[in-house]
Amino acid sequence: MATGHFKEGIAAGRLPADAYADNFADLHPPLDHHEALVEADRCYFCYDAPCMQACPTSIDIPMFIRQIATGNALGAAKTIFDQNILGGMCARVCPTETLCEEACVREAAEGKPVQIGRLQRYATDVAMEEQRQFYHRPDRSGKKVAVVGAGPAGLACAHRLALHGHDVTIFEARPKAGGLNEYGIAAYKSTDDFAQAEVDYVTGIGGIEIKNGMALGRDVQLADLAGAHDAVFLGMGLGGINALRAEGEDVAGVENAVDFISILRQTSDLAALPVGRRVIVIGGGMTAIDAAVQSKLLGAEEVTICYRRGKEDMNASLFEQDLAAANGVVIRHWLQPKRVISHNGRATALELEYTSMEGDRLTGTGELLTLPADQIFKAIGQTFVAAGLNGAGAGIELEGGRIKVDAEGRTTMARVWAGGDCIHAGEDLTVTSVAQGRDAAESIHRALASNPVTANGRA
Ligand SMILES: Cc1cc2nc3c(=O)[nH]c(=O)nc-3n(C[C@H](O)[C@H](O)[C@H](O)COP(=O)(O)OP(=O)(O)OC[C@H]3O[C@@H](n4cnc5c(N)ncnc54)[C@H](O)[C@@H]3O)c2cc1C
Ligand code: SF4
Repeated sequence: MATGHFKEGIAAGRLPADAYADNFADLHPPLDHHEALVEADRCYFCYDAPCMQACPTSIDIPMFIRQIATGNALGAAKTIFDQNILGGMCARVCPTETLCEEACVREAAEGKPVQIGRLQRYATDVAMEEQRQFYHRPDRSGKKVAVVGAGPAGLACAHRLALHGHDVTIFEARPKAGGLNEYGIAAYKSTDDFAQAEVDYVTGIGGIEIKNGMALGRDVQLADLAGAHDAVFLGMGLGGINALRAEGEDVAGVENAVDFISILRQTSDLAALPVGRRVIVIGGGMTAIDAAVQSKLLGAEEVTICYRRGKEDMNASLFEQDLAAANGVVIRHWLQPKRVISHNGRATALELEYTSMEGDRLTGTGELLTLPADQIFKAIGQTFVAAGLNGAGAGIELEGGRIKVDAEGRTTMARVWAGGDCIHAGEDLTVTSVAQGRDAAESIHRALASNPVTANGRA
């Protein structure tokens, strides 16, 4: 009888029951107290701190590392949270190899940077485990702000607004808060329900109400939100995905990688989650790597990422590419999907075309390759869904398919700001979204402070 790996098609329980917990364990296990002290000791406390300049939230990295080195983990956590209230999640998911750790002078000198991400995790874990809240709301300002979306951008914005005494209501379409921290980040980066623990920690400041199951455009309209609040922040992320543009892609077995990851993140039993025997992932970013690695960890026998350009063009960092390779994922370059081959309405193979550059243009060479596959994941980028932004009384201009904002995060509609993946600025990263949410909150606060009339009292 065929067992484990050898089940044909898309099947659950490919691995022995006890393999799942090991496979999905913490990617970077936490440093213990002694390890943290040793690692902190490696920092030169550079006066110009290139690591800090490379951090989108500008955390004072040498300062918090020095605090760890002197045994003051709580002080270190406060230094981190002062700039980035989601510092715990960022410590787990930031591609530090292309941010602070790439810039670390020890990386340049000896190819071994100070492990800033793991030190950040050490300090923030201590504070969160002790449930230490460093921030308290000042007297209420009497101003009300609506935030749409409880992802990293929305949560960071809400926290900073609460810190200034404003009342915040977050309208979140999904049943749980956290955005992609809860529904998107790879399971081995955020273990033990950390995303929800962090939502509780962030909202622990008080003055933030989250209304789940409330979608802008469906349950609430932008003009009404703007009328009932002094300001609105849009942090809706990216709700759509690009089409594969391959013939026959509408068959069973061709799936959206983000949906697959979301189901995986929400399941209470990984052994019950079906995965293909031969999986192909189309794309070259973090989502492609995460879908591929997690398919392999669920027991898929062959997992191949196909990317239409070269290795150096991939959005996934070298670390992520190596992680995929270490987990047995094969990455093939210069291939684009042409046609999904199916039998009885189910994908059985993917026909791909080799690509090459002609001058500045990527083009198909006409040479074809067929790879067997029972599951094909689309990870070719997400798109912004503008539904709900242009109803009666609202008017938000887009730029490059996302919300257009100025340097302060203001949209083209009065008293409406935006940040995170839904805006046309910055990289699509958790840490960038946190920075944009935080900075928009400061801009909102400045605007509210210069206008003493509250929403209820507005003419
Ligand atoms: C699979 C995957 C893996 C990733 N891995 C990493 C990683 O390892 N490291 C990293 O730095 N970045 C990673 N990213 C990117 C990162 O997750 C995002 O950049 C970040 O979550 C964006 O934050 P956000 O708040 O703008 O949007 P989101 O996290 O998408 O949150 C938006 C929130 O708005 C809600 N919403 C949407 N529309 C409405 C509406 N109409 N009404 C009300 N609510 C609405 C959504 O339900 C969601 O909760 C990953 C992304 C994906 C897709
Ligand atoms: S660049 Fe490296 S060594 Fe210098 S302060 Fe930052 S972490 Fe420390």
